[in-house]
Amino acid sequence: MNDAVIARGLVKRYKDVVALDGLDLCVPEGSVLGVLGPNGAGKTTAVRILTTLLRPDAGSARVAGVDVLDDPREVRRRIGVSGQYAAVDEYLTGFENLDMVGRLYHLGRRASRDRARELLAQFHLEDAGDRPTKTYSGGMRRRLDLAGALVAKPPVLFLDEPTTGLDPRSRTDMWDVIQELVAGGTSLLLTTQYLEEADRLADNIVVIDHGRVIAEGNADQLKAQVGGERIEVTVAVGDELGRARSLLEPLGVGPCVLEESRRSLVLPVSGGARVLTEALRRLDEAGIDLDDVGLRRPTLDDVFLSLTGHVAESARADPEDAQGKPPRERAEEMVR
Ligand code: ATP
Repeated sequence: MNDAVIARGLVKRYKDVVALDGLDLCVPEGSVLGVLGPNGAGKTTAVRILTTLLRPDAGSARVAGVDVLDDPREVRRRIGVSGQYAAVDEYLTGFENLDMVGRLYHLGRRASRDRARELLAQFHLEDAGDRPTKTYSGGMRRRLDLAGALVAKPPVLFLDEPTTGLDPRSRTDMWDVIQELVAGGTSLLLTTQYLEEADRLADNIVVIDHGRVIAEGNADQLKAQVGGERIEVTVAVGDELGRARSLLEPLGVGPCVLEESRRSLVLPVSGGARVLTEALRRLDEAGIDLDDVGLRRPTLDDVFLSLTGHVAESARADPEDAQGKPPRERAEEMVR
């Protein structure tokens, strides 16, 4: 299989700041790579280099088979890019925005119009297509921006935090749209701060911090790195905790941890639901009443915390980004 994106040893410095410190990335054709990392990890810098908006200080990259440094113009013909801040002209209608992009790509009048209508339908914007986009919700603008990135049917797509700041409903709508694209064979590199997004969309995930890859694998492999499943049991009467422990510990793959103040115990297990059923049977036979019981699997949030020492951000609460620039200014910088 060919690689849609391959980057080796990318380095980018801004004076004293090392934004990328030898970054390696690979997106096999037809797959989705999720790039996760805390604020300032280097995600946007990597995307800007791969989409030819920025030159690295060292390293090399090929996108859709073309060298990013040797032939940036050809790379731009083969990619679609959609960013954090939807770049739509709000005085034009949705249709006009897409038609304009088609003309910029020299699709021709007829083909450009047909493509605009086709994309409006694909992105569930048919009814709103003839309204100025200033009347659109945030989710609709993002969908239109993504549609704009697809006008020329690029085989490789870059999405930089495509759902940051969207409400949960619009986010799930966007995920559905992205999944349809990927099912159609588009190769995708996606940066995100939402671990659920990576879990749902990405075939492979790289976690980056300080401009380097600190972990990679699929979601299950990454979760396995931070430990396996655990059974958590809360007994109704604290005095029963010791008895519960001696009944359950033989079922585990490690020692029970007791939290007496919460009347609970945590037992590392392998075998999930089967072990949980056996644990419940033993506790029931012994007449031990429970307040709560559950099987807990590590989430990507646990992975992120253990790797980076940061809790993952669910959204950027601060309107200014890590560089202290308001979003609009940064968006303008992206298109320059
Ligand atoms: P975020 O999630 O906040 O977008 P990120 O992972 O995309 O973060 P980058 O925007 O790539 O991170 O930034 C990586 C580092 O490089 C940060 O320390 C950032 O402050 C710095 N940096 C990025 N662009 C510039 C610039 N134009 N001038 C100076 N420093 C910069």
